Amino acid sequence: MGADVIVIGAGYGGLTAAAILAHNGVEVEVLEATGHLGGRAAYYQKGGFLVDYGMHANRYGQRGSAAKALREIGYKIDFIPMGEPVVYRDSSFMPFPTGVYQFMKSEYLSRMDKAVIISDMVRLSLARTFKKDDVPLEEVTRGTDRAEVGSLFKLLSGLGLVSPDISVTSTVAFVTFMRKAMRTREAAAYPRHGTSQIIEALSSAIEQSGKITTGSRVKSLSITGGKVTGVRVKEELRGKAVIFAVPLQAFPGMVSDGLPDEFLERCSSVIPTAGISIDLCLSDKVSDIDGFVINPDPVFWGQFTSNVDPDTAPEGKQLTTWYYPLPVEMLDDQKFVKSEQEKLKAVIDGMFPGIMDKIEWERVLRLKMVDGFEPRVGQTAEYRPGTRVPGVENLFLAGDVVSAPGSGGDVAFASGSLAAREVLSFLS
Ligand SMILES: Cc1cc2nc3c(=O)[nH]c(=O)nc-3n(C[C@H](O)[C@H](O)[C@H](O)COP(=O)(O)OP(=O)(O)OC[C@H]3O[C@@H](n4cnc5c(N)ncnc54)[C@H](O)[C@@H]3O)c2cc1C
Repeated sequence: MGADVIVIGAGYGGLTAAAILAHNGVEVEVLEATGHLGGRAAYYQKGGFLVDYGMHANRYGQRGSAAKALREIGYKIDFIPMGEPVVYRDSSFMPFPTGVYQFMKSEYLSRMDKAVIISDMVRLSLARTFKKDDVPLEEVTRGTDRAEVGSLFKLLSGLGLVSPDISVTSTVAFVTFMRKAMRTREAAAYPRHGTSQIIEALSSAIEQSGKITTGSRVKSLSITGGKVTGVRVKEELRGKAVIFAVPLQAFPGMVSDGLPDEFLERCSSVIPTAGISIDLCLSDKVSDIDGFVINPDPVFWGQFTSNVDPDTAPEGKQLTTWYYPLPVEMLDDQKFVKSEQEKLKAVIDGMFPGIMDKIEWERVLRLKMVDGFEPRVGQTAEYRPGTRVPGVENLFLAGDVVSAPGSGGDVAFASGSLAAREVLSFLS
């Protein structure tokens, strides 16, 4: 039993690969362990609120990886542009500069700090020289000397790469992000109705030529003679090709012996990003802000999702979501996480006095994996496994740990699309 192509995992990566294959007439079956689709980008509805699994926007809007992947199945994402970002400093909000001109005019930094950051940015624009020998962002900035400049780099790295710890962030990844953000008018856009729009578009494409089976946890893959010969769920399924679209850290535990140790080690050792996500479903409106709300110290950010897309909350109510990145190794320290969570809520309460009294219901997620890899030195695309598994001809990889451009969801879409193209060529 089985389809021509078996896809393991119904997150963005697996759904993208399966949808492109189905759109090209290939018979696919997606096996998903849980009862819902979307993985880390799942959504749910409660009391009239439509809530994503944490704050989900797509980098660069129509020019980003999500839009590009969906165009491959003939679907154009309906994005809602977000408003201008604001930053919370000295107990009030000020516009966060998004371009060179706004930056020069803004009061965000003193003249001296502006001069320092401009010289840093010029040095970074020559970052081609780091390509061979990537270094942590902190080493090429003067952040340690000047608190405000360091804080701004942390903030930019946090927002763009979900990696505010500039003592590990890759300079190459940072420069790549900044260059693209400067070229693209939209740094991020919100898909109307959130991730549900994307998941529904991908799953309808899959249903044209295949099926999605939820509650189907794959236990292992049998590999014999350089081929996957079986995918074990309750029974053994067979396909001409298999796409593994579960975060790669789980890959070594699911395959039989015989694959190169070095490759398996590369999969299991990738360090993800982590943090706390809080959704607040409010009985009343507390703010009209429709762009990101950014806090510089500690770096965290949020949005009033229902100000961007009113359909995500019932009339007169409000949905707001906040994300606070933390080092993954700290997530097991319950006491630390609890105190950071309280700190986060206290700052939000300071920003919007009375907000906590308006909570109809809330959801707090402590997440050990947000993006599958942190864009730190040694984890950029060239170091992570690609879509192929050495020595196995019909096994392909997708998802946000696999080597593909971007970070987070971008990588899941881009790798899903890459894996689908490779499978199409393998089958032809
Ligand atoms: C709070 C939060 C906010 C985020 N915000 C953004 C954002 O704004 N922009 C952005 O681009 N990205 C964002 N991301 C990252 C983005 O959600 C992920 O990069 C993306 O969803 C990863 O997709 P994936 O397919 O690689 O993996 P996953 O979503 O993890 O999908 C893997 C799927 O495989 C299933 N599975 C696991 N084991 C098995 C098994 N043995 N058998 C069968 N199925 C299995 C899982 O249940 C899951 O459905 C955010 C993530 C979080 C958590």
